[in-house]
Parts: sequence; C-alpha cells; structure tokens
Amino acid sequence: MCSDILNMSIDPVEILLNSVSSGHPTEFVVTGLMMRYYHTCHRELWFESHDIEIDRSTNSIQRGTRVDDMSYSNLSEVLHIGPIAPDVMEDGKILEVKPSSSMEKASKMQLGYYLWYLKHKCGENRKGVLTVPNEKERTTVKLTAELESEIEDAIREIYEVVSKESPPEPEEKPFCETCAYQDFCWGGYDG
Ligand code: SF4
Repeated sequence: MCSDILNMSIDPVEILLNSVSSGHPTEFVVTGLMMRYYHTCHRELWFESHDIEIDRSTNSIQRGTRVDDMSYSNLSEVLHIGPIAPDVMEDGKILEVKPSSSMEKASKMQLGYYLWYLKHKCGENRKGVLTVPNEKERTTVKLTAELESEIEDAIREIYEVVSKESPPEPEEKPFCETCAYQDFCWGGYDG
C-alpha cells in the first residue's frame, strides 16, 4: 500500500466508499477474503493485502476459502463486482458456499461484506445465504444496521492492520496447520 493514503485522520470507510462509488479503486481495497482474514488471522490478512501469496491449490490448504461442490454446479452465475466475488447467486440472493461451519463468524462477515458492498455500489439490498453443503446447513444473512456497523468497524481495523509496515507476529491458532502460510510462520529458523 502507498503511504500517501494511510492518513488515519480520514475515515477508512469514507476512503473505501469513495473508491466504491467512483469505480476508481484507491490503494485501499477490501476484498471478501480480507474481511474473512480479519476475523481469523491478522497476519494472514496482512499477507493477503501485501500480495504475499502462497499456492492454495492443494486440498490441504483450501481452509475456509472456497468449496467446489457439485451440488452447486447448476448455479452458473458468479458475481464479480470490483474486489468482491461471491460464489454464486440463487434466486437473487448472494450465496456463499463453505466447506465447513467451523469459522462461522468469519464466513458471516465475509458474506455480510458482499451485501454491504452491493448496497453501496449498486443500491441493491440483497439477502445472503451461507451454505455448508457437507453439513446440510443454510443460514440467511441480512444486512441489518447492526451488521453494517460491525462491518464498518472491521473496515477501519483492517485499514490499521494493512497499514503496518510489517506483518503482525504469528499467533498459534487451531487452524494454523491447514493454513497456506503454516511453514512460513512456523518453519524452523536454524539457518
Ligand atoms: S499459520 Fe497461523 S499465524 Fe500464520 S498466517 Fe496462518 S493462521 Fe496466521
């Protein structure tokens, strides 16, 4: 990120909203994945925002991102709007498909952010459905005033995390073992 825009006197939500409405992204962009990582690991969030990428194509490191589930193969629409890319749409609702419900809060906030983004970009008030086919779970998510406020607080805090010059120190989490950065964070440093 460019330090010019990292002016904490400006509300990061305003920076993002200007970018959303103008269609000209500033250097502060929040993707759905970033919203997710904010709720799981701030170090992973920092990596994601600084283009430090690790190949996630192996099964062991698809934790909580996407699921290629054949039961949704007939739902062909994938929505790409700027930095957001919900999995599919179903009857006008935004559908986010997850492999498990283990990180429900993060999944709900990711989906909530898609709804927030759509509201501000297109004036569309959509409902969302969080679905976990493996567990036959479906939860409706609505963009309530409370959820909207929670998302905007998260955007401000994401701004703080990604503005740092170096990543937060690793903190052991139950899902580190299946994280793409596991070796990067916890590998030996014995030279
Ligand atoms: S291995 Fe753990 S600490 Fe490191 S980025 Fe992944 S979740 Fe975060």
